[in-house]
Amino acid sequence: MRTSNPNDPETMETMGMLKGKTAVVTGSTSGIGRAIAESLADLGASVVINGFGDADDIEALRCDLERRSGAVARYDSADMSQADAVRGLITGAIDHFGSVDVLVNNAGIQHVAPIEAFPPATWDAILAINLSSAFHTAACALPVMKQKGWGRIINIASAHALVASPFKSAYVAAKHGVAGLTKTIALEAAEHGVTANAVCPGYVWTPLVEKQVPENARARGLTEAEVIRDVLLAAQPTKAFVTVGQVAGLVGFLASEAAASITGAILTIDGGWTAE
Ligand code: NAD
Repeated sequence: MRTSNPNDPETMETMGMLKGKTAVVTGSTSGIGRAIAESLADLGASVVINGFGDADDIEALRCDLERRSGAVARYDSADMSQADAVRGLITGAIDHFGSVDVLVNNAGIQHVAPIEAFPPATWDAILAINLSSAFHTAACALPVMKQKGWGRIINIASAHALVASPFKSAYVAAKHGVAGLTKTIALEAAEHGVTANAVCPGYVWTPLVEKQVPENARARGLTEAEVIRDVLLAAQPTKAFVTVGQVAGLVGFLASEAAASITGAILTIDGGWTAE
């Protein structure tokens, strides 16, 4: 059995796999995106992080990414609900680093309410952040990726790209849209060394999930403990939350050379949820 010895030449090769490459991870100040940014930095990439949060925390994360990668890391505060800002995130990274090689569309928000009570402005925001932003980033990154003949577009979708749950109309619609967008990018980029894939996690314990527990409890008339046991974990045959590290590990693999023939795939990482 192989062990992960940092002095092992093969491990060292993996560790430096993304050396000289630039990765942009949207919504990476928290949760899954943050773990992805850390894992891509561990692989040697220059990482551009994005998202909201406390300025000191974000600066500490940026410095930690530079320590992990040995390369420059940058923070861009672009609001993923605003098309021009989204496009500016990618053009800014290209201006600074010369390319965007790995693009991870991860930023996302959630709102839980019945359709008849779902605020139209929240519908618009979820569609803009969870779906349209991935269109804008891809549109700006694809020309340089095609020119270099190498690129990885990894869209963090959800089990809700494949199945629905009640009270999540905008999220389910957006994530199904992400699956369709991913397949289309894959076909358009297939002959240029650029892959596009969607990663579909089940429930991962992050601030996004924590926040929907009380909303779900209100919508369903349950206690918060019942929501966790009977709604969230009931969906996953493993009866366990997926971890941010597991999602980041899959993203790291999709960025590797070994994954060059995986494109247009909708990859579940959901503890068996969508197998049922
Ligand atoms: P999170 O709330 O912990 O993190 C979301 C990130 O997006 C944060 O960095 C936040 O600042 C950023 N963000 C939100 N709105 C933004 C905006 N307008 N502009 C820029 N950044 C913005 O959430 P998470 O659970 O880590 O979710 C990350 C992604 O994973 C989302 O796309 C989510 O739909 C998806 N996902 C999460 C789960 C889960 O169970 N947590 C399951 C499946 C899919």
